[in-house]
Amino acid sequence: MKNIVEITNMCLNYHTPEGETEAVKDFSISVKEGEFVAIVGPSGCGKSTILSVISGLLKPTSGTIAINTDKTVGYMLQKDYLFEWRTIFDNVCLGPEIQKNLTSDKKEFAETLLKQYGLWDFRNSYPSQLSGGMRQRTALIRTLMLKPELMLLDEPFSALDYQTRLSVSDEIGTIIRKEKKTAILVTHDISEAISLSDRVIVLTKRPATVKSIYEIKLTADERTPMKSRESPEFKDYFNTIWKELDLNV
Ligand code: ADP
Ligand code: MG
Repeated sequence: MKNIVEITNMCLNYHTPEGETEAVKDFSISVKEGEFVAIVGPSGCGKSTILSVISGLLKPTSGTIAINTDKTVGYMLQKDYLFEWRTIFDNVCLGPEIQKNLTSDKKEFAETLLKQYGLWDFRNSYPSQLSGGMRQRTALIRTLMLKPELMLLDEPFSALDYQTRLSVSDEIGTIIRKEKKTAILVTHDISEAISLSDRVIVLTKRPATVKSIYEIKLTADERTPMKSRESPEFKDYFNTIWKELDLNV
């Protein structure tokens, strides 16, 4: 399997009138095709900054980044950024429409995704008529329309209440696996990280650097996020990572 992402000794410093902030320091990871990697770290440690660098929004101060795919990079954020005045179908078709490339093939693809992921009956509804979870699913489908190979997820469930968060992370995680995407999720939620990913990367406090890495091996018959949470090994990973983060260094 090829590496889709290769980052070596990346540093990123922000420059503001008040001075310089070291956000990320000597950060190295590689992510294989089809792998789901979670990055956990305390609030403010530099997680969003890392994703901004991977997406190309920010240029690293030093170090190298290689993104080995010609396809779009998909981004999912805490807020769904759906347009309230557009129907679900029109929100999903936004990307190709902006690119002036909303062909009948693309419309069919939108229909397939909406049917497959339980939103077909809501295609003519407006975002305000949907639950938080359905809105996030719509946002995911809008991203999938662009056929990304790599998905970047920046705490996409943290605006949802606890109950909804569990089921939505289950749905979104299952969809991303089914669509065979490579994914990098950043979160401060340890359970979310373990249940969704193949590998958890624990960061230090700011400036973020890799503190430790855990390969997640669970005996669940199915690696859906829900089933993963029920695996006997789950709590051991949780406790280990919890302690690691709690040391706060
Ligand atoms: P996280 O996502 O882990 O909460 P961020 O990557 O957003 O952390 O931020 C890391 C650090 O960089 C924080 O101290 C934050 O205040 C600072 N920071 C983030 N964005 C900027 C910016 N545009 N300009 C200056 N400092 C920033
Ligand atoms: Mg953040």
